[in-house]
Amino acid sequence: MNTASPITALKGVGEKTAALFHRVGVDTVGELLSYYPRTYDVYEKPKNFADLEPDRVQAVTAMLHRTPEGKKAGRYHITTAVLTENGIRLSLSWFNMPYLRNSLLPGRTYIFRGRVQKKKERLSMDQPEIYTPEDYEKLLGTMQPVYGLTGGLSNKTVTKAVRQALDELALDPEYLPEHIRNEQQLAEYNFALRTIHFPVKREDLLLARKRLVFDEFFLFILALRQMKEQTEDTVNACVIRPGAAVETLLSSLPYELTGAQKRVWQEIQSDLAGETVMNRLVQGDVGSGKTVLALLALLSAVESGFQGAMMAPTEVLARQHAESIRELLLGLSMEDCVELLTGSMTAKEKREAYARIESGEARIIVGTHALIQEKVQYARLGLVVTDEQHRFGVRQRETLAGKGLHPHVLVMSATPIPRTLAIIIYGDLDISVIDELPANRLPIKNCVVDESYRPKAYRFIEREVAAGRQVYIICPMVEENPEIEIENVVDYTEKLRKELAAGITIEYLHGKMKAAEKNDIMERFAAGEIQVLVSTTVIEVGVNVPNATVMMVENAERFGLAQLHQLRGRVGRGSHQSYCIFVSGSDSKETRKRLEILNRSNDGFYIASEDLKLRGPGDLFGVRQSGILEFRIGDIFTDALILQAASEEAAKLEKQDPDLSLAEHRGLREKLSEYRRAGLERMSL
Ligand code: ADP
Ligand code: MG
Repeated sequence: MNTASPITALKGVGEKTAALFHRVGVDTVGELLSYYPRTYDVYEKPKNFADLEPDRVQAVTAMLHRTPEGKKAGRYHITTAVLTENGIRLSLSWFNMPYLRNSLLPGRTYIFRGRVQKKKERLSMDQPEIYTPEDYEKLLGTMQPVYGLTGGLSNKTVTKAVRQALDELALDPEYLPEHIRNEQQLAEYNFALRTIHFPVKREDLLLARKRLVFDEFFLFILALRQMKEQTEDTVNACVIRPGAAVETLLSSLPYELTGAQKRVWQEIQSDLAGETVMNRLVQGDVGSGKTVLALLALLSAVESGFQGAMMAPTEVLARQHAESIRELLLGLSMEDCVELLTGSMTAKEKREAYARIESGEARIIVGTHALIQEKVQYARLGLVVTDEQHRFGVRQRETLAGKGLHPHVLVMSATPIPRTLAIIIYGDLDISVIDELPANRLPIKNCVVDESYRPKAYRFIEREVAAGRQVYIICPMVEENPEIEIENVVDYTEKLRKELAAGITIEYLHGKMKAAEKNDIMERFAAGEIQVLVSTTVIEVGVNVPNATVMMVENAERFGLAQLHQLRGRVGRGSHQSYCIFVSGSDSKETRKRLEILNRSNDGFYIASEDLKLRGPGDLFGVRQSGILEFRIGDIFTDALILQAASEEAAKLEKQDPDLSLAEHRGLREKLSEYRRAGLERMSL
């Protein structure tokens, strides 16, 4: 067995389990080993009730005095038990586990372990794990890996498979050159790999993690550099200059471009007409007005005789872009040259779209990644714009190059990352920043409240709706359980329909809905037919409904601040005063302090860096900050220092041995080409 062996080479992994692993991106033994734990369960000594802290996973020892109670609550069955110790009560509840009433016996002592919640001085645990004292004794003091899971794949299955792989595999030799390991004080590779899955001590775990984070960043940066070399000298065969239509569009906009928009538009124009093709990132906070710049570039391409494509991460967003572009082109009578291409279109619709793209009749093509699939033949593609965190990777570039196309590439992102980091992460791109919001914007008003405020929030929502505005509500998240999450959205919506005044149209949206259903809901929301939209975080990216003025986020404490900021960006997009209500389900002081940062500022860069300061580098496995820059283990905010170090080492290496031809760099060279084959295009930066 080696790292390239299929996962079925492991004992106990059959076709069925392999199919589940495939869903989390694991097909080979090597991929299994880099399927790092999401966090670790630390089995600490049980605590006295008086010492329990809210929002932390802890264990208690207690004798059960009576048989737990069971009851139906809507769709759920709930089992509850109440424990007491020195007059302090702790209530336990389990969802859909009615059999516990038979297996938990009064008079016996158990260890219950779970996240402690404290509301109005009352302690509770949802879904606590249950152990006998003997079983718990065996786990005490250990750290057990917790993997990201999918329905049907249990943590036990993953753990067992990883353990077997580590035991039986002929491991890769160390590939990082010794000078780098010494300079950066990095642990040996195989030690790091074993330790990240099965840590014995916390100190070792930190060392292991540092090593693997370094590797991940280092390989990424090296791969980017190679990519830049390949692309930066591509001769510009699509010289694009804005013409009369762009002029007309600019003068017919209902607003004037901000200074920052004008500056960035200049930068884009000089790229488009330059010697080599454009590879530019436009970074601008939510609502800074990136879309209109994309349109100006696309329209310029059309005027210069080329086609322009715009790629969005979701179908909802693609549709919305197509609509708003058509609208802006109405005045020029050019709306018919806009083509929408998405995965959920029927085969016939797609065929017709392909034909119009191939004939050149379609000039501005908007869609999801379907845009660059094999079947799409462009007549004269000159520009590709990607919106919102959809990196245009090696694979996509190569697909297009295979068709003889070398278009300009414009990447647009709202990820709030400081410039120093952006330069590293987007090393293959030139960067423009829109650092100014349109002047007509009223700053969003924010408040952080607890759950008792909900009725007031609902009355407020009713008033906003009565005034003609619209509302988003982000539903409580259910960690790691998409099925319950869906039920939650549905239940919440039903409750809300009873709570809010009659006549308000309330609909919901979640990730598992069919694309057509989602589109329908979004279109009705955009058209003002739906007043309140209850949603999971699928709404997060890029949606633009300027009439929406309230964003209410339930369980705000469960989100990273950067993500909350993205959510908040869905409101405050028009001229009406907008509001953000963060409902915290937790009384803890730290949580409040974190959320207060949002309260203080509407500046994404500031928020992300404050969050980092507050949590400190010790909180390695807490809330993932970005959720957007998806590295496997590294987090560009928390691990910013390692990112810098990796970047410096990459620069040194480039001077010393640019094509990695020295003997001591052979291992690294091989690892890098393996990474480029497997890794880079997966990243959705
Ligand atoms: P984002 O940068 O988040 O993609 P959008 O491009 O969707 O932002 O723009 C948000 C809203 O701001 C849109 O309704 C757009 O019409 C409007 N807008 C863009 N530029 C300006 C401007 N210079 N002045 C006023 N409104 C603008
Ligand atoms: Mg946008």
